Amino acid sequence: MVPSEPITLRDLYLARARIGPWIRRTPLVASPSLSAPGRARVALKLETAQDTGAFKLRGATNFIRARGDMVRARGVVTVSTGNHGRAVAHAARRVGARAVVCMSELVPANKREAIEALGAEIRIVGRCQDDAEAEAQRLVREEHLALVHPFDDPLVIAGQGTVGIEILEDQPEVDTVIVALSGGGLISGIALALKAANPRARVVAVTMEQGAAMYESVRAGRPVEVEETPSLADSLGGGIGFDNRYTFELVRALVDDYVLVTEAEIARAMRHLYRNERVIAEGGGAVSVAAVLAEKVSGLSGNVVCVVSGGNVDMTTFTRIVAGAGR
Ligand SMILES: *Cc1c(COP(=O)(O)O)cnc(C)c1O
Repeated sequence: MVPSEPITLRDLYLARARIGPWIRRTPLVASPSLSAPGRARVALKLETAQDTGAFKLRGATNFIRARGDMVRARGVVTVSTGNHGRAVAHAARRVGARAVVCMSELVPANKREAIEALGAEIRIVGRCQDDAEAEAQRLVREEHLALVHPFDDPLVIAGQGTVGIEILEDQPEVDTVIVALSGGGLISGIALALKAANPRARVVAVTMEQGAAMYESVRAGRPVEVEETPSLADSLGGGIGFDNRYTFELVRALVDDYVLVTEAEIARAMRHLYRNERVIAEGGGAVSVAAVLAEKVSGLSGNVVCVVSGGNVDMTTFTRIVAGAGR
């Protein structure tokens, strides 16, 4: 395999210029309720306010616009039915390109309809995620659609890194950024921006206890699979890929600390965000705040930013959690 070019700050600024007109510049808001007087000043970077409800629109838009001609000629494909799938469908529609989302029969109707409503073509194959993935690979091979990877792609990572650029613009004196970690595209992009500005700034990764694939992979020194159990942070599920090319090394090099949070801690953070900040966060979007509330981030001081990465939670789950369940 040809060694890949490293992703640079320049790539992040190129992404920023490319996607700027097509995404929302999200607010950074101070959070008195999470700040410790005299010690840590905590602010929230609200990707809950992003179009399609999560930061993933940044990476998907950067990929689709950077490869515009090819994408318009051939279309794009993904297997995600969550935030990445929504982002790909939305970004493809805006350039007038075909988007195909492959999924198994087991995907619930509401998820299917949400993707369909964004104009994507749904292809239902088999009874498991692997069947959906095989179909996506076939579309790439035989019909030459472009696969938009949810995290392990330089354009996607650079797109997510625009979150980091915006944080630095709004709070140049940021000391610590706390970020949800799954495949590692978001935290890699943010860390590239942050460490370029200040190598001493700290990047903290947060994942749910059950199914922390990147965390276990970093510990093992190679990509490993972990068993998944249902979690409030469903958007953080999935592996990092045995053939991981970018994010495993970036996370290893750039992440300073890892925190694992429990389901009860995630529920508490969702409740806290709603009651104190009037922010509706999904479980995966609330883990950074969960880590702070549970006091699991050691030596927290100075200017702290918690990235609240998404707000796509179904109302049944949300009302149950906010009413006090999962304590
Ligand atoms: C995808 C996702 C993440 C994790 O991003 P990675 O780039 O896979 O680490 C975090 N929060 C939300 C809401 C997501 O949709």
